Amino acid sequence: MKDILLLFDIDGTLIDSGEAGSRALNKAFEKLFGIKDAFKPISMAGKTDTQIIKEALVFHRIDNGMHMINNMISTYIEFLKMEIDNPRRTLKPGVAEILEFFDSRNIPMGLLTGNIEEGARIKLSPFGINRYFPTGAFGSDHEDRDMLLPIAISRFSRFGIDLTPDRCIIIGDTPRDVRCAKIHGARAVAVCTGPYSADALHSSGADLVIESLNHKERLISFLKEL
Ligand SMILES: [Mg+2]
Repeated sequence: MKDILLLFDIDGTLIDSGEAGSRALNKAFEKLFGIKDAFKPISMAGKTDTQIIKEALVFHRIDNGMHMINNMISTYIEFLKMEIDNPRRTLKPGVAEILEFFDSRNIPMGLLTGNIEEGARIKLSPFGINRYFPTGAFGSDHEDRDMLLPIAISRFSRFGIDLTPDRCIIIGDTPRDVRCAKIHGARAVAVCTGPYSADALHSSGADLVIESLNHKERLISFLKEL
């Protein structure tokens, strides 16, 4: 396991926020535009926050200019800080152990997530795992998840970690995580702890599909062969 970079998705992969994200989005939308449950018709898994907000604005026929999106984002963040404090939030199985394992072996880890950076940090903060991820690429960097890997790579290069995409492993729970790895020639590890079945993740082209991050040995033997 030399010269690799592990990039983790957040929702459905590292944590379950207890739906804090969708509640915060709905509350922000209701506060700004008076529409309840505005995100009910919008599918969210694997999309960036900016993309999700834009889709909701378009769906409800509201101006979707940058000013409106920024307004939504700052209101969402205020609600997220409260909503993350809920009894249903959990760390996904095996996460604490696997982060400790890679950290103890000095394997660099980052985030590659559709969450805007501030939201990502708020979601991870109650679990005390932000410290494993010095940087990454976020929904606040680009609306299109497919554009995030090169951003993550260039941020790590400032830490002296200079790797090509084929040395990067994206770990996520949706076909969108798999695609944003494969289009750049990176590896994709898919976990079945989100809304997608193993079959769906296999057919999306994942290099490895595991039930959860509890399957540490399978993940490690995959990484050793790279
Ligand atoms: Mg996810």
